[in-house]
Amino acid sequence: MELSEILNELGEDRSLYFNAVAPPLLQTSNFAFPTVAALRSAFADEMGGYIYSRGLNPTVDILRKKLAALDGAEDALLFANGAAAIFAGVLPFVKKGDHILSVRSPYSWAQKTFDQILPRFGIETTYIDGTDIRQFEEALRPHTTFIYLESPNSWNFALQPLAEVAALARARGIVTLIDNSYCTPLHQRPHELGIDLCMQTATKYIGGHSDTLGGVLTGTHERIRRIFELDYLAIGSGLSPFNAWLLLRGLRTLPVRLERISRSAATVLAWLKAHPKVDRVLYPLDPDFPQYDLARKQMSGAGGLFTCTLKGGTPERITRFCEALRHFLMAVSWGGHESLILPKCAGIDPAAFDPSNMEHQYIRMYVGLEEPEYLIRDLEGALALV
Ligand SMILES: *Cc1c(COP(=O)(O)O)cnc(C)c1O
Repeated sequence: MELSEILNELGEDRSLYFNAVAPPLLQTSNFAFPTVAALRSAFADEMGGYIYSRGLNPTVDILRKKLAALDGAEDALLFANGAAAIFAGVLPFVKKGDHILSVRSPYSWAQKTFDQILPRFGIETTYIDGTDIRQFEEALRPHTTFIYLESPNSWNFALQPLAEVAALARARGIVTLIDNSYCTPLHQRPHELGIDLCMQTATKYIGGHSDTLGGVLTGTHERIRRIFELDYLAIGSGLSPFNAWLLLRGLRTLPVRLERISRSAATVLAWLKAHPKVDRVLYPLDPDFPQYDLARKQMSGAGGLFTCTLKGGTPERITRFCEALRHFLMAVSWGGHESLILPKCAGIDPAAFDPSNMEHQYIRMYVGLEEPEYLIRDLEGALALV
């Protein structure tokens, strides 16, 4: 289906809603039935209709149809945030005694799930950097049932060879899940490479305005139903109708925002790379990126998020730089209208800062919708002070 049809038409039965152009916000918790027989048949298949908004809701369903189609998947489920989508994407497919193979340094709450929650239930996770298929082959165990991917990673942008990992996993009946938040389906299409479940935080690019959280999981009808019928309803972390409505609004402009953000990021990145006080930039589609060739093969764009380091990147210099910026806001998250900066050292105890560990010097930047020249002037002023 064409992108314009997905964004403008799919799922929008306007004739049911007075031909309103904007989608209806059905802010309701429950749905009424005329007969016991109708209620009974609804109970028999909770995914087949509307009973209670912890399950399905018509406003959320409009977004659900669009995001499934955008991923080229049969079905989707929407969550209150990306972390909830990760949890519900992993939980149904692991049981006591199973082994999960994950890429190193996945999104922090995925890592906490693997390190602190799942071990309580006898599920062990091991990590590999995942840049080479041989690492996957070597790390698999007889009881590995799940492979967790994040390509690119949202700090160091490490990539995994997705088609090869998918083939390896499928041959062994192992379920694969990728966190595709960095790329969105506009820049990377993991289902087409054979990955089973795609997760995205909708808080970032899909919302795009830093005013709501959301998460999405896409896959086959069968897998999505399996998640829905037990874990999704039991965990109860589905998206609210109002937040779905906001995300539908954001989704309309996703392609234009990503196009603009990618172009601005390239301008800002080129300027930073040429600056004498900047040591390195990390961006998957930068020709100097170590996995540039793989990035070109798997991704059609890279958006506005990248990492840089300063020459002599001490915590003091990094702090001076970040605090001198006026237009880049210092905050977590990304994918919204506003440009952001996030120094890794803010999450490291000053006594534990290791100057020889490049990652400790990372400064993550996100270029939003501002004019690139406006952002460059800000960077110029801040770099003059370090
Ligand atoms: C933000 C983020 C998440 C989690 O999404 P939330 O909506 O904040 O829960 C997961 N993965 C990546 C890569 C993220 O950046």
